[in-house]
Amino acid sequence: MKSLIKNFLIFFTTFLLIAAVFSFFSGAGRKSEIVGIDTLVAQINNQEVGKIVIAGSEMQVTLKQGQTEVVKKEIGDTFSQIVKNFNLDPVKVASIKIEVKSDEGLNYWLGAILPFLIPFLLISVFIYFMLRSVQGANSKAMMFGQSQAKEIGREFKDKVTFKEVAGVKEAKEELKEVVEFLKNPQKFSELGARTPRGVLLLGSPGTGKTLLARAVAGEAEVPFFSLSGSEFVEMFVGVGASRVRDLFRKAKKSAPCIIFIDEIDAVGRKRGSGLGGSHDEREQTLNQILVEMDGFDPNTNIIVIAATNRPDVLDPALLRPGRFDRRVILDEPDLADREAILKVHVKKKPLSKEVSLKRVAERTPGFTGADLANLLNEAAILAAMKNRKIISLEDIFKSIEKVMMGPERKSRILSSKEKRITAYHEAGHALVAHFSSLADPVQKISIIARGQAGGYTLKLPLEDKHMYSKTEYVEEIAVLLAGYVAEKEIFGEVTTGATSDLRRATGLARKLITDYGMSDNLGPRTYGDKEEMIFLGREIHEQRDYSEKIAEQIDREISNFIDLAALKAKGIIKAKRDFLEKTVVELLAKETLEKEEFEKIVGEKAKAEA
Ligand code: ADP
Ligand code: ZN
Repeated sequence: MKSLIKNFLIFFTTFLLIAAVFSFFSGAGRKSEIVGIDTLVAQINNQEVGKIVIAGSEMQVTLKQGQTEVVKKEIGDTFSQIVKNFNLDPVKVASIKIEVKSDEGLNYWLGAILPFLIPFLLISVFIYFMLRSVQGANSKAMMFGQSQAKEIGREFKDKVTFKEVAGVKEAKEELKEVVEFLKNPQKFSELGARTPRGVLLLGSPGTGKTLLARAVAGEAEVPFFSLSGSEFVEMFVGVGASRVRDLFRKAKKSAPCIIFIDEIDAVGRKRGSGLGGSHDEREQTLNQILVEMDGFDPNTNIIVIAATNRPDVLDPALLRPGRFDRRVILDEPDLADREAILKVHVKKKPLSKEVSLKRVAERTPGFTGADLANLLNEAAILAAMKNRKIISLEDIFKSIEKVMMGPERKSRILSSKEKRITAYHEAGHALVAHFSSLADPVQKISIIARGQAGGYTLKLPLEDKHMYSKTEYVEEIAVLLAGYVAEKEIFGEVTTGATSDLRRATGLARKLITDYGMSDNLGPRTYGDKEEMIFLGREIHEQRDYSEKIAEQIDREISNFIDLAALKAKGIIKAKRDFLEKTVVELLAKETLEKEEFEKIVGEKAKAEA
């Protein structure tokens, strides 16, 4: 639509220009004076007129002395009428040379026709441009079939190498083989080895799958074609498949090369699952990918790298030998990896000397590579906003909280009553966490609203954990419920502030029973088949694979776990009531308490006995 308006404006301006030029030329030819009809009549009577050229509404008069002048008349009036009207002497008129050019002059035509022509012209031009832009859209629709793959060529400026990918040692080790194959394929074929065709990268979002695939291309110095699985799935059936064909055709031309398919689960879901909708399209796209990969002859030098965070939903056909038979897992980075990733990303950022990346890594458990990159970026922005030239540790710590919990909302002013409730709520969380030996130590307590939360208590594990015991989980639930319990204990009733705590506690309790087999009554089995279905973009979880009776038991067990945890929390809060009050006083005065300030009140946290 925008281009339509633009076209129209261009046309209109051109038209105005032409009109201006015309009027300039037609005006330039006439240097003669314009006189009234009575002057002409007088001149005729005085026999001064030599010649009259009648052209439309104008009479060009040439006097006997040589001057010229122009007389306007009405278009309909003829000269003979003028003669009659003004009673001119026929003899005197007869001596004048009269030429009639009327109705032929350009001006006459323009004058007569243009008023009708202009709207007509405008309308036809408008229609023309309309049609043209519709056609444009059509031809774009024809091009849907072509793949939108972005090729990143050999001479790509910021080429990525393995050096820029920190951590993920095993994955890199595995992919070195692929690099070797792209560089020296004959080394493998001489030994009769079947060369890899597809590599599947598995890892949560932000763990560096795309980065790693690009690094493989960078190391092998080959072109890199990338495409996302969700791009395949367009509205028209058949488009995905033709895009795949197109992508592979392009890639074959520039082999050796790498084809990277991000989010392969968007097309490679188990066939037949999913209700209604576009799974025809997905199936066709997936089939085409498989056909293309099967069609590689032994010396096709193309490696397809696909990435997903949902290996569980992938179609088994994708995983067969000769297809994506290599699987490389990218774990979430541990402490050392996080430090290494931070090191990669601080290269172009001036840091103040006191910044210890190790301490930053300690504070960021569960952060992925993308989170860490984002964190440093936030810190740099924070420093820039304060017009500083270097990034301080404080900037980084502030950004950690921002990345974890959303920006602080200082503008959301709590009333003093709300503040008191929030302070007791958060102090409750902190206290129960502090006195539960297995819970993570408290790092910070705050009653400044942040993201959705009214306040928050930040806990951080001392080390990365991969396994949790039942006792730990019960303590975790107790900490989650502590805010609720504290509110109830002090004010006798609870507020809406505890909603998300309760939801998380309930979810966790359910998991203990249905996924982890931690309920003694229900025994070591899982409940509910997590095979997922997508319907209208929403996931409908869980096929029930248990009876009504078991469902009731599960509900009862969830309540048992919750009650147990709430009792624990209540016990701690009652026993340490004076600590609670002291923490609340401090919180109301300062709004945030760091670990050290909190421990000044409650003492150091007891170490968990191993
Ligand atoms: P994914 O494809 O797994 O979702 P990306 O590869 O797109 O993740 O990662 C996003 C960004 O996170 C990368 O561009 C990079 O800046 C950063 N990143 C992720 N993992 C790492 C890593 N291991 N080393 C360095 N940077 C990383
Ligand atoms: Zn809470």
